[in-house]
Amino acid sequence: MDIRKEFLDFFEKKGHKVYPSSPLVPDDPSLLFTNAGMVQFKPIFTGEKPAPEPPRACSSQLCMRAGGKHNDLENVGYTNRHHTLFEMLGNFSFGDYFKEEAIAYAWEFVTEVLKLDKDRLWITIHESDDEAGKIWEKYVSKDRIVKMGDKDNFWQMGDTGPCGPCSEIHYDQGADKFNSPEDYLGGEGDRFLEIWNLVFMQYNRDEKGNLTPLPKPSIDTGMGLERITAIKEGVTSNYETSIFKPLINRVVEITGKEYFTDKRGASHRVIADHIRAVTFLLAQGVRFDREGRGYVLRRILRRGVRHGYMLGMKEPFMYKIVDTLVNQMGHQYPYLIEKKEAVKDAMKMEEERFFATIDKGMELFKEALAKTTGDIFSGEIAFKLYDTYGFPLDLTQDMLREVGKRVDIETFEKLMNEQKERARANWKGSGDKKINLKDLEKYGANKFVGYEKTSHKTKIK
Ligand code: ATP
Ligand code: MG
Ligand code: MG
Ligand code: MG
Repeated sequence: MDIRKEFLDFFEKKGHKVYPSSPLVPDDPSLLFTNAGMVQFKPIFTGEKPAPEPPRACSSQLCMRAGGKHNDLENVGYTNRHHTLFEMLGNFSFGDYFKEEAIAYAWEFVTEVLKLDKDRLWITIHESDDEAGKIWEKYVSKDRIVKMGDKDNFWQMGDTGPCGPCSEIHYDQGADKFNSPEDYLGGEGDRFLEIWNLVFMQYNRDEKGNLTPLPKPSIDTGMGLERITAIKEGVTSNYETSIFKPLINRVVEITGKEYFTDKRGASHRVIADHIRAVTFLLAQGVRFDREGRGYVLRRILRRGVRHGYMLGMKEPFMYKIVDTLVNQMGHQYPYLIEKKEAVKDAMKMEEERFFATIDKGMELFKEALAKTTGDIFSGEIAFKLYDTYGFPLDLTQDMLREVGKRVDIETFEKLMNEQKERARANWKGSGDKKINLKDLEKYGANKFVGYEKTSHKTKIK
Protein backbone atom coordinates (compact mmCIF):
# COMPACT_ATOMS: atom_id res chain seq x y z
CA MET A 1 0.00 0.00 0.00
CA ASP A 2 1.31 3.43 -0.97
CA ILE A 3 0.11 5.18 2.17
CA ARG A 4 1.19 8.64 1.11
CA LYS A 5 -0.77 8.35 -2.14
CA GLU A 6 -3.82 6.80 -0.48
CA PHE A 7 -3.93 9.68 1.96
CA LEU A 8 -3.65 12.44 -0.63
CA ASP A 9 -6.15 10.73 -2.96
CA PHE A 10 -8.62 10.31 -0.12
CA PHE A 11 -8.57 13.98 0.80
CA GLU A 12 -8.49 15.14 -2.81
CA LYS A 13 -11.75 13.26 -3.30
CA LYS A 14 -13.10 15.15 -0.28
CA GLY A 15 -12.47 18.45 -2.03
CA HIS A 16 -8.96 19.21 -0.77
CA LYS A 17 -6.21 20.62 -2.94
CA VAL A 18 -2.95 18.67 -2.79
CA TYR A 19 0.05 20.87 -1.89
CA PRO A 20 3.68 19.83 -2.26
CA SER A 21 5.95 19.59 0.76
CA SER A 22 7.31 23.06 1.55
CA PRO A 23 11.03 23.65 2.31
CA LEU A 24 12.53 22.46 5.60
CA VAL A 25 13.78 26.00 6.16
CA PRO A 26 10.57 27.93 6.63
CA ASP A 27 9.86 31.48 5.60
CA ASP A 28 9.42 32.29 9.27
CA PRO A 29 12.16 33.62 11.58
CA SER A 30 10.35 32.31 14.68
CA LEU A 31 10.96 28.73 13.60
CA LEU A 32 14.19 26.81 13.21
CA PHE A 33 12.78 24.23 10.81
CA THR A 34 9.44 23.24 9.41
CA ASN A 35 8.17 21.04 12.23
CA ALA A 36 4.61 20.32 11.06
CA GLY A 37 2.43 20.30 7.99
CA MET A 38 0.67 23.50 9.01
CA VAL A 39 3.79 25.65 8.81
CA GLN A 40 3.38 26.58 5.14
CA PHE A 41 -0.22 27.59 5.89
CA LYS A 42 0.46 29.67 8.99
CA PRO A 43 -0.31 33.09 7.39
CA ILE A 44 -3.66 31.70 6.24
CA PHE A 45 -4.57 30.47 9.71
CA THR A 46 -3.66 33.81 11.29
CA GLY A 47 -5.65 35.74 8.71
CA GLU A 48 -2.56 37.48 7.32
CA LYS A 49 -3.34 35.92 3.96
CA PRO A 50 -6.81 35.17 2.60
CA ALA A 51 -7.96 31.56 2.48
CA PRO A 52 -7.29 29.94 -0.87
CA GLU A 53 -9.97 28.39 -3.04
CA PRO A 54 -10.89 25.71 -2.16
CA PRO A 55 -10.37 26.47 1.55
CA ARG A 56 -9.20 22.88 2.07
CA ALA A 57 -5.69 21.50 1.64
CA CYS A 58 -3.72 18.34 2.17
CA SER A 59 -0.03 17.49 1.99
CA SER A 60 2.71 15.12 2.86
CA GLN A 61 5.16 17.44 4.57
CA LEU A 62 8.81 16.78 5.36
CA CYS A 63 9.33 17.84 8.98
CA MET A 64 12.43 18.32 11.11
CA ARG A 65 12.26 18.09 14.86
CA ALA A 66 15.77 18.83 16.01
CA GLY A 67 16.10 22.00 18.02
CA GLY A 68 13.32 24.47 18.62
CA LYS A 69 9.97 23.77 20.21
CA HIS A 70 9.41 20.18 19.14
CA ASN A 71 12.87 18.72 19.62
CA ASP A 72 13.14 14.95 19.26
CA LEU A 73 16.90 14.69 18.86
CA GLU A 74 17.29 13.08 22.30
CA ASN A 75 14.61 10.51 21.54
CA VAL A 76 16.11 9.23 18.34
CA GLY A 77 17.59 5.78 18.71
CA TYR A 78 15.92 5.31 22.08
CA THR A 79 12.23 5.18 21.13
CA ASN A 80 10.70 3.19 18.29
CA ARG A 81 8.69 6.11 17.02
CA HIS A 82 10.78 9.29 16.87
CA HIS A 83 12.90 10.66 14.05
CA THR A 84 14.59 13.96 13.44
CA LEU A 85 13.23 14.02 9.88
CA PHE A 86 9.90 12.46 9.06
CA GLU A 87 6.91 12.89 6.81
CA MET A 88 3.68 14.27 8.17
CA LEU A 89 0.45 13.61 6.32
CA GLY A 90 -2.08 16.34 6.95
CA ASN A 91 -5.42 17.78 5.96
CA PHE A 92 -6.33 21.39 6.59
CA SER A 93 -9.46 23.49 6.68
CA PHE A 94 -9.15 27.25 6.48
CA GLY A 95 -12.31 28.43 8.18
CA ASP A 96 -14.25 25.79 6.28
CA TYR A 97 -15.13 22.57 8.09
CA PHE A 98 -14.40 22.13 11.80
CA LYS A 99 -14.45 19.33 14.39
CA GLU A 100 -17.40 17.36 13.04
CA GLU A 101 -15.97 16.69 9.57
CA ALA A 102 -12.36 16.54 10.71
CA ILE A 103 -13.23 13.64 13.02
CA ALA A 104 -15.47 11.95 10.44
CA TYR A 105 -12.75 12.09 7.77
CA ALA A 106 -10.05 10.82 10.10
CA TRP A 107 -12.19 7.93 11.29
CA GLU A 108 -13.13 6.96 7.75
CA PHE A 109 -9.52 7.03 6.59
CA VAL A 110 -8.20 5.05 9.53
CA THR A 111 -10.89 2.37 9.53
CA GLU A 112 -11.85 2.09 5.86
CA VAL A 113 -8.72 2.96 3.92
CA LEU A 114 -6.01 1.89 6.35
CA LYS A 115 -8.36 -0.73 7.77
CA LEU A 116 -6.86 -0.56 11.23
CA ASP A 117 -8.46 -2.80 13.82
CA LYS A 118 -11.07 -0.65 15.62
CA ASP A 119 -10.55 -2.53 18.84
CA ARG A 120 -7.03 -1.21 19.04
CA LEU A 121 -7.90 2.46 18.61
CA TRP A 122 -8.00 4.94 21.49
CA ILE A 123 -8.96 8.59 21.37
CA THR A 124 -7.69 11.43 23.52
CA ILE A 125 -9.35 14.82 23.79
CA HIS A 126 -8.50 18.02 25.64
CA GLU A 127 -10.03 18.00 29.11
CA SER A 128 -12.12 21.07 28.28
CA ASP A 129 -13.39 19.76 24.94
CA ASP A 130 -16.74 18.05 25.54
CA GLU A 131 -17.76 18.98 22.02
CA ALA A 132 -15.09 16.75 20.50
CA GLY A 133 -15.93 14.02 23.02
CA LYS A 134 -19.56 14.02 21.92
CA ILE A 135 -18.60 13.72 18.27
CA TRP A 136 -16.23 10.84 18.94
CA GLU A 137 -18.96 8.96 20.78
CA LYS A 138 -20.63 8.42 17.43
CA TYR A 139 -17.70 6.22 16.43
CA VAL A 140 -16.11 4.73 19.52
CA SER A 141 -17.32 3.67 22.91
CA LYS A 142 -17.05 6.19 25.71
CA ASP A 143 -14.44 4.26 27.67
CA ARG A 144 -12.06 4.61 24.73
CA ILE A 145 -12.19 8.41 24.85
CA VAL A 146 -9.73 9.77 27.36
CA LYS A 147 -9.34 13.35 28.58
CA MET A 148 -5.87 14.84 28.78
CA GLY A 149 -4.36 18.18 29.81
CA ASP A 150 -2.46 20.84 27.93
CA LYS A 151 0.77 18.91 27.76
CA ASP A 152 -0.61 16.28 25.42
CA ASN A 153 -3.74 17.82 23.98
CA PHE A 154 -3.06 21.47 23.38
CA TRP A 155 -0.96 21.92 20.28
CA GLN A 156 1.21 24.83 19.28
CA MET A 157 3.71 25.22 16.49
CA GLY A 158 6.13 27.32 18.54
CA ASP A 159 6.14 29.79 21.40
CA THR A 160 4.01 32.04 19.23
CA GLY A 161 1.58 31.36 16.41
CA PRO A 162 -1.63 29.45 15.77
CA CYS A 163 -2.65 26.85 18.34
CA GLY A 164 -5.59 25.08 19.89
CA PRO A 165 -6.93 22.04 21.71
CA CYS A 166 -6.45 18.79 19.90
CA SER A 167 -7.72 15.26 19.72
CA GLU A 168 -5.45 12.33 18.98
CA ILE A 169 -5.86 8.82 17.65
CA HIS A 170 -3.69 6.14 19.25
CA TYR A 171 -3.09 2.56 18.27
CA ASP A 172 -2.58 -0.06 20.96
CA GLN A 173 0.21 -2.32 19.77
CA GLY A 174 -0.52 -4.81 22.50
CA ALA A 175 0.55 -5.49 26.06
CA ASP A 176 2.24 -8.67 24.86
CA LYS A 177 4.76 -6.64 22.87
CA PHE A 178 5.43 -3.92 25.39
CA ASN A 179 6.02 -4.19 29.04
CA SER A 180 7.32 -1.01 30.52
CA PRO A 181 5.98 1.29 33.22
CA GLU A 182 5.94 4.11 30.65
CA ASP A 183 3.46 2.28 28.47
CA TYR A 184 0.12 3.85 29.20
CA LEU A 185 -1.97 6.17 27.07
CA GLY A 186 -0.19 9.52 27.04
CA GLY A 187 2.93 8.01 28.59
CA GLU A 188 6.41 8.02 27.13
CA GLY A 189 6.37 4.42 25.97
CA ASP A 190 5.67 3.06 22.50
CA ARG A 191 2.78 0.68 23.27
CA PHE A 192 -0.06 3.20 22.73
CA LEU A 193 1.32 4.65 19.54
CA GLU A 194 0.12 8.15 18.78
CA ILE A 195 -0.69 8.13 15.11
CA TRP A 196 -2.79 11.16 14.25
CA ASN A 197 -3.27 14.56 15.80
CA LEU A 198 -6.33 16.62 14.91
CA VAL A 199 -5.76 20.21 15.99
CA PHE A 200 -8.73 22.47 16.37
CA MET A 201 -7.03 25.75 15.50
CA GLN A 202 -8.80 28.42 17.45
CA TYR A 203 -6.19 30.80 18.83
CA ASN A 204 -3.10 32.77 18.01
CA ARG A 205 -0.49 33.16 20.72
CA ASP A 206 1.42 36.45 20.70
CA GLU A 207 4.89 37.24 22.06
CA LYS A 208 3.47 38.00 25.51
CA GLY A 209 1.80 34.62 25.64
CA ASN A 210 -1.73 35.98 25.19
CA LEU A 211 -4.24 33.91 23.28
CA THR A 212 -6.54 35.68 20.85
CA PRO A 213 -9.19 33.87 18.79
CA LEU A 214 -8.31 33.30 15.15
CA PRO A 215 -10.55 35.00 12.59
CA LYS A 216 -12.07 31.61 11.75
CA PRO A 217 -11.71 28.33 13.59
CA SER A 218 -9.74 25.99 11.38
CA ILE A 219 -8.44 22.45 11.18
CA ASP A 220 -4.85 21.28 11.10
CA THR A 221 -4.03 17.58 11.30
CA GLY A 222 -0.82 15.59 11.27
CA MET A 223 -0.15 11.87 10.98
CA GLY A 224 3.31 10.32 10.92
CA LEU A 225 3.90 8.35 7.75
CA GLU A 226 6.61 6.19 9.31
CA ARG A 227 4.36 5.21 12.24
CA ILE A 228 1.46 4.22 9.99
CA THR A 229 3.88 2.28 7.85
CA ALA A 230 5.07 0.35 10.89
CA ILE A 231 1.50 -0.59 11.83
CA LYS A 232 0.62 -1.60 8.28
CA GLU A 233 3.77 -3.67 7.99
CA GLY A 234 3.03 -5.38 11.28
CA VAL A 235 6.14 -4.25 13.13
CA THR A 236 6.35 -2.36 16.41
CA SER A 237 9.24 -0.10 15.46
CA ASN A 238 9.57 2.45 12.67
CA TYR A 239 13.13 1.25 12.32
CA GLU A 240 11.94 -2.16 11.16
CA THR A 241 9.85 -0.81 8.31
CA SER A 242 10.71 -0.85 4.63
CA ILE A 243 11.55 2.84 5.05
CA PHE A 244 14.38 2.23 7.52
CA LYS A 245 15.44 -1.37 6.97
CA PRO A 246 17.59 -0.64 3.89
CA LEU A 247 19.40 2.11 5.80
CA ILE A 248 19.97 -0.08 8.85
CA ASN A 249 21.21 -2.87 6.58
CA ARG A 250 23.63 -0.48 4.93
CA VAL A 251 24.96 0.54 8.35
CA VAL A 252 25.51 -3.14 9.12
CA GLU A 253 27.29 -3.62 5.81
CA ILE A 254 29.60 -0.63 6.28
CA THR A 255 30.42 -1.17 9.93
CA GLY A 256 30.36 -4.96 9.93
CA LYS A 257 28.43 -4.74 13.20
CA GLU A 258 25.28 -6.77 13.70
CA TYR A 259 22.02 -4.92 14.36
CA PHE A 260 19.91 -5.52 17.48
CA THR A 261 16.39 -4.19 17.85
CA ASP A 262 16.92 -3.47 21.55
CA LYS A 263 19.11 -0.80 23.09
CA ARG A 264 22.27 -2.36 21.68
CA GLY A 265 21.07 -1.15 18.26
CA ALA A 266 20.79 2.54 19.24
CA SER A 267 23.85 3.58 17.23
CA HIS A 268 22.56 1.91 14.07
CA ARG A 269 19.22 3.63 14.50
CA VAL A 270 20.75 7.03 15.18
CA ILE A 271 22.89 6.78 12.04
CA ALA A 272 19.95 5.59 9.90
CA ASP A 273 17.88 8.49 11.19
CA HIS A 274 20.55 11.17 10.96
CA ILE A 275 21.55 10.28 7.40
CA ARG A 276 18.03 11.20 6.31
CA ALA A 277 18.05 14.54 8.10
CA VAL A 278 21.52 15.50 6.91
CA THR A 279 20.88 14.45 3.32
CA PHE A 280 17.61 16.35 3.02
CA LEU A 281 18.99 19.48 4.70
CA LEU A 282 22.05 19.52 2.45
CA ALA A 283 19.97 18.79 -0.66
CA GLN A 284 17.73 21.70 0.26
CA GLY A 285 20.69 24.05 0.52
CA VAL A 286 21.49 24.22 4.25
CA ARG A 287 25.27 24.26 4.85
CA PHE A 288 27.38 23.25 7.85
CA ASP A 289 27.90 26.32 9.94
CA ARG A 290 28.87 27.60 13.38
CA GLU A 291 25.45 29.04 14.08
CA GLY A 292 21.74 28.74 13.50
CA ARG A 293 20.38 26.06 11.25
CA GLY A 294 23.76 25.17 9.85
CA TYR A 295 24.93 24.42 13.38
CA VAL A 296 21.99 22.12 13.98
CA LEU A 297 22.96 20.35 10.77
CA ARG A 298 26.53 20.05 12.06
CA ARG A 299 25.32 18.71 15.41
CA ILE A 300 23.25 16.03 13.72
CA LEU A 301 26.08 14.94 11.45
CA ARG A 302 28.58 14.84 14.32
CA ARG A 303 26.24 12.78 16.45
CA GLY A 304 25.96 10.33 13.58
CA VAL A 305 29.74 10.22 13.25
CA ARG A 306 30.16 9.68 16.96
CA HIS A 307 27.80 6.71 16.86
CA GLY A 308 29.75 5.35 13.89
CA TYR A 309 32.93 5.80 15.90
CA MET A 310 31.34 3.67 18.62
CA LEU A 311 30.85 0.99 15.99
CA GLY A 312 34.52 1.12 15.08
CA MET A 313 34.54 3.64 12.22
CA LYS A 314 37.75 5.63 11.89
CA GLU A 315 37.06 7.51 8.70
CA PRO A 316 34.12 9.04 6.84
CA PHE A 317 31.30 6.57 6.31
CA MET A 318 28.01 8.46 6.51
CA TYR A 319 28.31 9.71 2.94
CA LYS A 320 28.42 6.08 1.79
CA ILE A 321 24.83 5.60 2.94
CA VAL A 322 23.46 8.43 0.79
CA ASP A 323 23.03 6.23 -2.31
CA THR A 324 20.78 3.84 -0.42
CA LEU A 325 18.56 6.68 0.73
CA VAL A 326 18.40 8.29 -2.70
CA ASN A 327 17.46 4.96 -4.29
CA GLN A 328 14.60 4.77 -1.86
CA MET A 329 13.28 8.32 -1.79
CA GLY A 330 14.49 9.81 -5.08
CA HIS A 331 11.21 9.02 -6.82
CA GLN A 332 9.25 11.10 -4.37
CA TYR A 333 11.90 13.81 -4.06
CA PRO A 334 13.75 14.07 -7.41
CA TYR A 335 16.04 16.85 -6.18
CA LEU A 336 17.77 14.18 -4.09
CA ILE A 337 18.90 12.51 -7.31
CA GLU A 338 20.02 15.80 -8.77
CA LYS A 339 21.98 16.87 -5.65
CA LYS A 340 23.31 13.46 -4.69
CA GLU A 341 26.99 13.95 -5.54
CA ALA A 342 27.15 17.45 -4.06
CA VAL A 343 25.52 16.16 -0.88
CA LYS A 344 28.03 13.33 -0.59
CA ASP A 345 30.98 15.68 -1.11
CA ALA A 346 29.78 18.15 1.52
CA MET A 347 29.03 15.35 3.97
CA LYS A 348 32.36 13.64 3.48
CA MET A 349 34.26 16.89 4.05
CA GLU A 350 32.42 17.58 7.28
CA GLU A 351 33.02 14.01 8.42
CA GLU A 352 36.73 14.43 7.71
CA ARG A 353 36.81 17.60 9.77
CA PHE A 354 35.32 15.86 12.77
CA PHE A 355 37.32 12.66 12.37
CA ALA A 356 40.43 14.87 12.59
CA THR A 357 39.66 15.76 16.22
CA ILE A 358 37.40 12.99 17.43
CA ASP A 359 40.21 10.67 18.65
CA LYS A 360 41.77 13.33 20.85
CA GLY A 361 38.39 14.49 22.04
CA MET A 362 37.31 10.98 22.94
CA GLU A 363 40.57 10.45 24.80
CA LEU A 364 39.97 13.59 26.83
CA PHE A 365 36.38 12.53 27.42
CA LYS A 366 37.32 9.06 28.64
CA GLU A 367 40.04 10.36 30.96
CA ALA A 368 37.65 12.88 32.45
CA LEU A 369 34.92 10.29 32.76
CA ALA A 370 37.24 7.95 34.62
CA LYS A 371 37.90 10.76 37.11
CA THR A 372 34.21 11.54 37.53
CA THR A 373 33.05 10.06 40.81
CA GLY A 374 29.48 11.35 41.10
CA ASP A 375 26.99 11.70 38.29
CA ILE A 376 28.04 15.22 37.29
CA PHE A 377 30.60 15.55 34.51
CA SER A 378 32.96 18.56 34.51
CA GLY A 379 31.59 21.65 32.74
CA GLU A 380 35.17 22.76 31.99
CA ILE A 381 35.88 19.55 30.09
CA ALA A 382 32.58 19.73 28.23
CA PHE A 383 33.52 23.27 27.25
CA LYS A 384 36.97 22.22 26.16
CA LEU A 385 35.47 19.40 24.11
CA TYR A 386 33.22 21.92 22.48
CA ASP A 387 35.75 24.66 21.98
CA THR A 388 38.83 22.70 21.00
CA TYR A 389 37.59 19.40 19.59
CA GLY A 390 34.32 20.40 17.99
CA PHE A 391 32.07 18.31 20.24
CA PRO A 392 28.70 20.08 20.37
CA LEU A 393 27.33 20.13 23.91
CA ASP A 394 24.48 17.81 23.04
CA LEU A 395 26.93 15.26 21.69
CA THR A 396 28.77 15.16 25.01
CA GLN A 397 25.42 14.93 26.77
CA ASP A 398 24.43 12.03 24.52
CA MET A 399 27.63 10.16 25.49
CA LEU A 400 27.03 10.82 29.17
CA ARG A 401 23.49 9.65 29.03
CA GLU A 402 24.74 6.19 28.10
CA VAL A 403 26.53 6.02 31.45
CA GLY A 404 23.85 7.81 33.47
CA LYS A 405 25.74 11.05 33.99
CA ARG A 406 25.22 14.67 33.01
CA VAL A 407 27.20 17.82 32.32
CA ASP A 408 27.64 20.52 34.95
CA ILE A 409 25.67 22.88 32.80
CA GLU A 410 26.13 25.99 34.99
CA THR A 411 29.89 25.90 34.55
CA PHE A 412 29.57 25.17 30.87
CA GLU A 413 27.26 28.13 30.41
CA LYS A 414 29.50 30.36 32.51
CA LEU A 415 32.49 29.56 30.30
CA MET A 416 30.40 30.03 27.21
CA ASN A 417 29.24 33.42 28.41
CA GLU A 418 32.75 34.48 29.35
CA GLN A 419 33.88 33.61 25.89
CA LYS A 420 31.00 35.55 24.48
CA GLU A 421 31.94 38.55 26.60
CA ARG A 422 35.55 38.36 25.46
CA ALA A 423 34.39 38.19 21.90
CA ARG A 424 32.10 41.15 22.41
CA ALA A 425 34.94 43.19 23.91
CA ASN A 426 37.28 42.25 21.11
CA TRP A 427 34.82 43.22 18.49
CA LYS A 428 34.04 46.61 19.99
CA GLY A 429 35.26 49.22 17.58
CA SER A 430 36.42 46.68 15.09
CA GLY A 431 33.78 48.03 12.77
CA ASP A 432 32.42 44.56 12.16
CA LYS A 433 28.75 45.36 11.86
CA LYS A 434 27.80 41.96 10.65
CA ILE A 435 27.74 40.41 14.08
CA ASN A 436 24.58 40.93 15.98
CA LEU A 437 24.34 38.92 19.17
CA LYS A 438 20.60 39.35 19.30
CA ASP A 439 20.32 37.65 15.95
CA LEU A 440 22.50 34.84 17.11
CA GLU A 441 20.31 34.11 20.04
CA LYS A 442 16.95 34.39 18.41
CA TYR A 443 16.31 30.69 18.23
CA GLY A 444 15.06 30.85 21.81
CA ALA A 445 14.45 27.28 22.91
CA ASN A 446 17.81 26.16 21.68
CA LYS A 447 20.22 28.18 23.69
CA PHE A 448 23.39 26.92 22.21
CA VAL A 449 22.52 27.42 18.63
CA GLY A 450 24.47 30.44 17.65
CA TYR A 451 27.03 30.85 20.37
CA GLU A 452 29.75 29.27 18.41
CA LYS A 453 30.06 32.25 16.13
CA THR A 454 31.15 34.34 19.08
CA SER A 455 34.32 32.32 19.38
CA HIS A 456 37.27 33.67 17.41
CA LYS A 457 39.49 30.82 18.12
CA THR A 458 37.20 27.94 17.52
CA LYS A 459 38.97 25.20 15.67
CA ILE A 460 35.94 24.23 13.68
CA LYS A 461 35.79 25.48 10.17
P1 ATP B 1 4.85 12.10 20.42
O1 ATP B 1 3.94 12.36 21.60
O2 ATP B 1 4.88 10.68 19.98
O3 ATP B 1 6.20 12.71 20.61
P2 ATP B 1 3.80 14.46 19.26
O4 ATP B 1 2.57 14.62 20.09
O5 ATP B 1 4.96 15.27 19.61
O6 ATP B 1 4.21 12.90 19.16
P3 ATP B 1 2.50 15.92 17.10
O7 ATP B 1 3.18 17.21 17.31
O8 ATP B 1 1.11 15.76 17.59
O9 ATP B 1 3.43 14.74 17.71
O10 ATP B 1 2.64 15.55 15.54
C1 ATP B 1 1.64 14.90 14.77
C2 ATP B 1 2.03 13.49 14.38
O11 ATP B 1 3.31 13.44 13.75
C3 ATP B 1 2.16 12.52 15.55
O12 ATP B 1 0.90 12.04 15.94
C4 ATP B 1 3.05 11.43 14.97
O13 ATP B 1 2.30 10.51 14.17
C5 ATP B 1 3.98 12.22 14.06
N1 ATP B 1 5.27 12.53 14.72
C6 ATP B 1 5.49 13.49 15.65
N2 ATP B 1 6.79 13.55 16.01
C7 ATP B 1 7.41 12.61 15.27
C8 ATP B 1 8.77 12.19 15.18
N3 ATP B 1 9.74 12.78 15.88
N4 ATP B 1 9.07 11.19 14.32
C9 ATP B 1 8.10 10.59 13.58
N5 ATP B 1 6.81 10.94 13.63
C10 ATP B 1 6.45 11.93 14.45
MG1 MG C 1 6.70 14.71 20.46
MG1 MG D 1 2.06 13.37 21.81
MG1 MG E 1 0.64 14.88 19.44
